[in-house]
Formats: sequence, C-alpha cells, structure tokens
Amino acid sequence: MKYVSTRGASSGQSFTDILLEGLAPDGGLAVPEQWPRIMPVKLQAMRDLAYPQLAFEILRFFSDDFPGGALKRIVDKTYTKEIFGTPEITPLRPLGNNLHLLGLSNGPTLAFKDIALQLLGNLFEQVLEEKDRRLTIVGATSGDTGSAAEYALRGKSRVKVFMLSPHNRMSPFQRAQMFSLQDANIFNIAVEGTFDECQDVVKAVNADAAFKARHSIGAVNSINWARVAAQVVYYFKGYFAATQSNDQQVSFAVPSGNFGNIFAGYVAKQMGLPIRRLVLATNENDVLDEFFRTGRYRPRATADTHETSSPSMDISKASNFERFIWDIVGGDGEKVRWLFGQVAKEGGFDLSREKEWEKVEEDSGFVSGKSTHADRLATIKEVKAMHGVIIDPHTADGVKLAKRYAEPRYPMICLETALPVKFEATIIEALGEPAPRPPGFHDLESKPQRFDILKPDAEALKRYIADR
Ligand SMILES: *Cc1c(COP(=O)(O)O)cnc(C)c1O
Repeated sequence: MKYVSTRGASSGQSFTDILLEGLAPDGGLAVPEQWPRIMPVKLQAMRDLAYPQLAFEILRFFSDDFPGGALKRIVDKTYTKEIFGTPEITPLRPLGNNLHLLGLSNGPTLAFKDIALQLLGNLFEQVLEEKDRRLTIVGATSGDTGSAAEYALRGKSRVKVFMLSPHNRMSPFQRAQMFSLQDANIFNIAVEGTFDECQDVVKAVNADAAFKARHSIGAVNSINWARVAAQVVYYFKGYFAATQSNDQQVSFAVPSGNFGNIFAGYVAKQMGLPIRRLVLATNENDVLDEFFRTGRYRPRATADTHETSSPSMDISKASNFERFIWDIVGGDGEKVRWLFGQVAKEGGFDLSREKEWEKVEEDSGFVSGKSTHADRLATIKEVKAMHGVIIDPHTADGVKLAKRYAEPRYPMICLETALPVKFEATIIEALGEPAPRPPGFHDLESKPQRFDILKPDAEALKRYIADR
C-alpha cells in the first residue's frame, strides 16, 4: 500500500513514512493510492473476530511495510478491557426501532478519540524506537483532542507533549482530566487568551523551520492518516454486531466536526462493508450540511464559527474533507488543487455544476442535517425517558438526524462520540441533574493539577520548549 498526496505532488510513500507527518509538502493530505477491497469470503471470516484481531486484519491493509509481528503486539496491547472498559471495546446497545448506540467512549478520556490515539501513541513508540528518534508534540486544544493525545503519550520516553489550552475556558472536568496528569513528559500550558490564539502560537512555532527541525516538532492532529485508519475498524465491529449476515445493509449516524470520524465510515464502505447511508450531523456550524445538500462548499472564518453546546463540532473548515473531494474527483490531484485554490481565492467552490456531483448524490451514501441547541436538549431528554440512557450533546446531534433518516428495514447505528459526564452543564440543562460518573472519575477535580501559564506569544513558547 503506497500513499499519495491529495494535491498530487508526492507519491510512493509508505505507511511508516507518513505516520509522523502532518501536511504533505504540497499542502495536501496523505491518502492510499487505492482503497483495499475486502472479498466476501474475507468479510465472512472477519465476522466473529475479537476487536484486536479485527483491528489487525484491517490495519494490515494500510500498513504492509510495518512489521506484522509488531502490529499484532501493538493492537493486542492497545485494545484491552483494562483500557476500554469491556472486552468488546465498542459495545452496541439497542435504542429501540432498529436504532443502536455504538459505545466508542469508554477509553481513558471518555471520548471516541481515544480509540485512534491510544493506537497512535503505541505506533509512534515503535517507530521512534526503530529509527532511534525523538519527537516533540506541540498542539492546541479546546478539550477532547488534547486530553486524548496526552493520555495516549504519557510516559512514552521518546516523546514530549506541549499542549496549549485557553486559560479558564475549558469545562472543570476537561481541565482536571488534562492538568491532573503528573507524567514528566507532559506539559500543560494554559494560555492567557482564546483557543484561536493558542492555535496561532502553535502555527507560529511550526513556521520556524530551524526550531522545528532542532526539536523534531510534530503533531497528532486530525489529518493524521493512521487516526482515520484506526477508526475504520469500529464501523466493521458495529456492522457485525448489528447484523446476522453479510447480505444486510446498515446505516451510520455520525456527529461531525473535522470529518475524520465519518470519513472512516466512507473508507469502510469503499472497502466493501455493506453501508447504506452515512448520516452526517452538524451542529449550528453547518458548512458540511450545506455541502451535502447543495454541492456548495463555503468554509467560514474562525470569527463566524458559533460557540455551541456540542463544542467539539465547532469547526467551520473540516480538515479531512479534502480527502473525500480527492476521492470524488477520481484521485485527480490537479483538480483538488484547483478546487481548494478556489476556496483560498473565492471563499469556496460549487460542485453541483460539475460532473462529479452525481457521484456524491448517488453513490457516496452521504445524507446530512443540522441539529441545534434546542434539538440537543430535546433528544437527550427523549432518549433518557424512552431508553434510560443518557447521551452526550454531540451524540445527541447524531441521534437527532438518525431519527430523521432511519428506515425500518435497515439498522441505524449512532456513534457515541463522548460520555455525558464531560459536558455536565448541558446535561443539567436537559435533565435537571448531572450524568452519573463512571468509576475512577469521582474525585477527578480534587486531584492536584500541574500546569504553567503563558502569554499568547510564540517566542515565550519556544523558550519554554527549549528549556525542557
Ligand atoms: C472530535 C469530536 C467530534 C467530531 O469528530 P470529527 O472526526 O472531527 O468529525 C464529535 N464529537 C466529539 C465528542 C468529539 O470529541
């Protein structure tokens, strides 16, 4: 399996080559040259595999240059009951009327990002060891990604993590999750400013090529291909759990922000998993809903991004979307470059007048919709009343749209992207009481916290990193 850039200027790279990379040098994203196809016999053989074995079979398609023995050891070490709470790793629960909830949020930070990042941490460790390299991760977070990255990389001897977050702007739970880590390789930096200012500082540090090389600075952001690949696995797992045989089709409903989670579902479909619909749910930040309804892609500026009660979806420029466009235009890097050039020049592009739009409408499986704060509250209430299950605000956005697009003949699997305990204020608003805490999280906020406060200043951050 070789990888190319979505903008066509690099090709022939291996999985190990792209594992530690961010953007390709031409500004594109790494994608496999072609999608692996799983034959029906093979799909049948996968049906009863336990999660780590299934992960091995699927990830092997994408990483044939990575030693098989090492991959086996890594998936076995990553996907355990100790780390993810159940031997199924992603248990499926019924929500009535052929709706199901796929539990993706039972990892260390209680959000689905753990599933990919726990694996990524162990893959990094292996590759750094082999190449005798070190890595400095510098990132900015407003919540879920930063903590999932820290829990994946804590205690790894060749990695240091510098994570910026806006001072006093995360929920007390999210802040305690990150700041209570005492590992010597984790540095939490509370920036006196907004999330955007944190991101600007990270970008400025990355723009200093000499500094970047000197400290081998890398990222674990959502464009990392291995994260997408790891997420493909639970679409298979969910499919097998919801069906009796492989001639059935299922649909998935996915609360979306950076388009990483649902794109993994699209990859699963291209690999031959019988997926009928991919229901893309947005919150008030509805750029992707507009695209799938009209063919017009108009990403908004940061200043026009709403702050909502499903904050991990407050994104107006979905970083993985370019991978989808690349596939829709048949892997034509020139065309991808032209389209995203239009975004830079004209603020967007309109695919509805291009021949490819038919492919999006007819074959991609995508349908979409938008969910608002009021929808979120109503859905949380309804699901609790009817099924006794408390879902988080992001999951509620997905369930809201799942109901709109559900068809009686086909199971509809809603992805649970976080546990409700992370978003206490909204749960109290919806239900009048907080969600119960999972075991091990009762005294989280009273644990000692370790962090430093910095001004939003790239030079200050560089000094901070250099000193450590
Ligand atoms: C990251 C996140 C999302 C969005 O996922 P994408 O892969 O960015 O589309 C949705 N819900 C929660 C809780 C998240 O943490």
